[in-house]
Amino acid sequence: MTGPATLFIDGQWVPAADGGTRDIHCPADGTLVATVSEATADDTVRAIGAARRAFDAGEWSSRPAAERGDLLIAVADQLTERADAFARAESLDTGKRFVESQIDMADIAACFRYFGKLAAQDAGRLVDAGSPDVLSRIRYEPVGVCGLISPWNYPLLQAAWKIAPALAAGNTFVLKPSELTPHTAIMIIELLTEVGVPAGVANLVLGAGPVAGAPLSEHEDVDLVSFTGGLATGKIIAASAAATVKKVALELGGKNPNVIFADADFDAAVDNALNAAFVHSGQVCSAGARLVVEESIHDRFVDELVRRAEQIRLGGPFDEAAETGPLISTAHRDKVTGYVEQAVADGAVLRCGGRWGEGDLAVGSYYLPTVLDGVRRGSAAVTDEAFGPVVTVETFGSEDEAVEIANDTRYGLAGAVWSSDAGRCQRVAQRLRHGTIWINDFHPYLPQAEWGGFGQSGIGRELGPTGLDEYREAKHIYHNLRPEVTGWFPNTPPP
Ligand code: NAD
Repeated sequence: MTGPATLFIDGQWVPAADGGTRDIHCPADGTLVATVSEATADDTVRAIGAARRAFDAGEWSSRPAAERGDLLIAVADQLTERADAFARAESLDTGKRFVESQIDMADIAACFRYFGKLAAQDAGRLVDAGSPDVLSRIRYEPVGVCGLISPWNYPLLQAAWKIAPALAAGNTFVLKPSELTPHTAIMIIELLTEVGVPAGVANLVLGAGPVAGAPLSEHEDVDLVSFTGGLATGKIIAASAAATVKKVALELGGKNPNVIFADADFDAAVDNALNAAFVHSGQVCSAGARLVVEESIHDRFVDELVRRAEQIRLGGPFDEAAETGPLISTAHRDKVTGYVEQAVADGAVLRCGGRWGEGDLAVGSYYLPTVLDGVRRGSAAVTDEAFGPVVTVETFGSEDEAVEIANDTRYGLAGAVWSSDAGRCQRVAQRLRHGTIWINDFHPYLPQAEWGGFGQSGIGRELGPTGLDEYREAKHIYHNLRPEVTGWFPNTPPP
């Protein structure tokens, strides 16, 4: 049986074993983008086997780290050169505006460059063993075979946060991107091969999570599974990884508070609140989906937010007038619709949006920017991730109450505080139980700064030096330079 050859196993582009395929449609208008292979679980097991053999052969892990780093820097250079082709593919799969995909590609190149440079820097660590006769050191070694599972909202960015440190540390991997957005994963694997990553080191399987993805958390030959996606899937992956005591890294959802004090720069805070909630139509794990605003400015702030939200222009990836795009699929639009309907049934006041796109937008999976005011504390609207263009509004009267509301979530990915009082900003930032805190800003992140969640937003960190550590084992080598008889068992003296 044949089909498109878009799985990459052991250095070869191959079709799925059973010839299975999947059509990829652009969410902006439903047009067919391409047909790709749909892997079976056996395909994934074969890819794991290839990654295992390549790792055990040791050719990749024993290369000087600086040499691996050079390859990653070459990837960054080529990504920069081909950014538009990558951005176009990403936009067709996701429906995201082309300019946003271009920004993503620049961020992805920066990620490869960062880990390329970091790779060469850490030659281990000497440890003071307290004796002149002992040489004790920590050596960092790759974990082994890594299963990398990524989502559809920032397809190549989320994959790059895993691929770059995994390769920098000398691991081999099998990547399983979201079944909805495979194209930039195919392109990055082509690029890795082109710059000289050896056969078997980088493998790619495409397909449904429970089929093509499941072996990556189940199989005993996978040493680490790194997953970015939803909380429910993360729990399944962590549970199945436990059977073989794999290392598990989880980057899950968020329900991120954006806390606005009355003394904040009003215009900047409103503008950034729009950005926080509606960029990429809210399909951002760190979206500022919970506006927590001081009572005294609530009416003015929310009126202005609504006025501007109503004017946001929606459109397809190449519509230059568009300010944001569609949701990833009609199924996801249905989920967002259900979330908003439930919130209103629970007493939220729908201030704008709450509807699908109409007219030209009716063919794509568009959902209008939505503001839900007066949400009840503890209701599903403030506890559950909508992962769409929906912001809820809560109010507070004091600094303590602001912190309490902002921390009242099972998640803990990101949050922001807005105030012109620097002392208050620092105090609140320290008390918020979230992995990233922005002060008078929203959304920026840096490849050199750790990213990840408190609470049920995940386990571990991506990016920064800790993002490399996730893919390394620390080995302690204790060298006794003056061996001697210990005399520990005096009844069994040496002859
Ligand atoms: P998802 O959990 O549905 O899927 C994520 C990936 O897991 C996909 O590749 C999917 O095919 C795969 N998968 C599903 N079931 C699986 C299984 N049983 N075994 C192995 N793989 C399986 O998530 P999604 O809808 O693609 O992405 C949206 C979610 O991702 C949101 O909750 C968002 O908050 C989260 N996210 C988090 C971050 C972060 O940095 N913390 C970044 C981006 C997205």
